[in-house]
Order: sequence, then structure tokens, then C-alpha cells
Amino acid sequence: MNIIKKTLIYDDQLSLAILDTTDMVNDAIKIHNLSPLSAAALGRTMTITTFMASGLKNATDKLSVTIKGDGIGGEIVVCGNSDLKMRGYIANPNAELPLKSNGHLDVGGCVGKNGRITIVKSMGLKEPYSGTSQLVTGEIAEDFAAYYTFSEQQPTAIALGVKIGTDGTCVGAGGVIIQALPFASEESLFMAEDTILRMGNISTLIEEMGVDGIADYFFGPLNFNESFPKYQCLCGKDYIEKILLSMGKAELYDIINTQGKISVNCQFCETDYVFTKEDIDKLLSENK
Ligand SMILES: [Zn+2]
Repeated sequence: MNIIKKTLIYDDQLSLAILDTTDMVNDAIKIHNLSPLSAAALGRTMTITTFMASGLKNATDKLSVTIKGDGIGGEIVVCGNSDLKMRGYIANPNAELPLKSNGHLDVGGCVGKNGRITIVKSMGLKEPYSGTSQLVTGEIAEDFAAYYTFSEQQPTAIALGVKIGTDGTCVGAGGVIIQALPFASEESLFMAEDTILRMGNISTLIEEMGVDGIADYFFGPLNFNESFPKYQCLCGKDYIEKILLSMGKAELYDIINTQGKISVNCQFCETDYVFTKEDIDKLLSENK
């Protein structure tokens, strides 16, 4: 079960979020047939994006995170909404690199150290908010900590992890995010960073203790708000039809004439939508 638990800690000076995204990462592995390294890079990005989506206020709010680095994994895109329905993809689902000297997957090599993160939040009728920052290590947690510090002026300590078992499935994925509220003391921030450092390997903690175990062990008894994110694509035939209609009649029949059909693949869930000439005739006659 995917879960995000949030509360305030250290005399309400800091906000704490603990996430278990193991099931979400396994859904991503199944949908995209991901290698362990690609699963780790996409899984960490899905975890931090789920945290970001949990801060959206209105039912129609949504956001997208794009990481463009110079690593072998290529572009990573994750989208989500305030219901915490999350979806994503990585350009290269088969990325492989030798393990690092500490035995961990080389996520930094997959993502790359040079490049940028772009976050777009769409909130109601206002212009979308867009923020960007440079990658630091490509390990995702450090990169998003830098994003929060420099782009949103909010000091943030982040641990993210994805552990892949010998059979290629995810056995533990999640994260811990601690953010300073505006009146937080230097001391509380230092304690937060120290706690995150002491946690070590977050994916192993998720696997062995779960989010409740992590909360109890590192923070003591607390009352949490809980939400339940999941991997869910929002595409559908209606959505694809709207895109086709926006292309115009001439373009649609041009494709039909050259390819015999129109085939649209959703990058987020790998669903193929196929339209024959008869389908297009019907679609256009119903939408004159
Ligand atoms: Zn889809």
C-alpha cells in the first residue's frame, strides 16, 4: 500500500513527510518493463513528485516534474494531481550501469550531473507556476533539496530510496522529507539534517520497518495526516479524441492515407489507441 504521512515536528518549526511508494514503483516497473536502474531513477522521482503533489490545495490542481540530465537514462517525466494519482516515464527504460563501490544502483550516472529540473504547477485559471534549478548530483534527493532551497527559498532535507530485489521487483521505496517553516530555528534545521543522515539507507528502512516504524524510531509518538497515492494514468479514449480533433481534418486523413490508421501510444501507461478511417469519419461527423 502506498502512503504519505505528514505532521509537524520540533515545536511545529518543521514539517515532516514520510512516504512508502513501493507499490507505485512496482506498477511503474510492470507498465514500462523497467531495468532496476531505470526503476530507481523513476521511482525516486515519483516519490518526491508525490510529496510535491500532496501540497496542492485545490481538486483541479496538478503538477509535472521534468528532469533533463546528461545521463544514460534520458528524460524523466512525472505528473500528478491533488488526488495523488501519479504517473511517469523515463526515456530509457533499460538503463544499466555497474553498481557503485557501496553496492548501490548508480542513479547519479543514470540521471546525469549536468542538466535541470523543471516543475510546472497548474492551479486553476491563473498562469501555471514554473520553477527550475540545476542538477547537483543526479541522485534526485540532493537535486530536489537544491531546488527547494534556491527556487522556493525553503530549506529542505530529503532522503529518497528505491531497493530492487533479485527478481527485479521493488522491495522497498519511499522517502523522508523535512522542511523548515518560516520561523524555524537554525538548531531545528541542524537536527533535521542530522536525523536524515542517521537514517542511512531509506529503502532498507521502508522494507524492514515501514513508515510507522520509521516514524516511531526516529521521531517518537506523533499524530499524522495520511493520504494514499497511487499510480494511475488519466488518459482515455475521450482525451485522445480531443487531441486528434485539435489536429484538424486534413492532418488526420493525411495520416490515415499514409499509414492506414492512426495509432497513439500513451507514454505514461503504454496504452495504444488505434483509430481506423471509419473511427475518424465517425469522430469528425460527431464533432462538426
Ligand atoms: Zn495513459
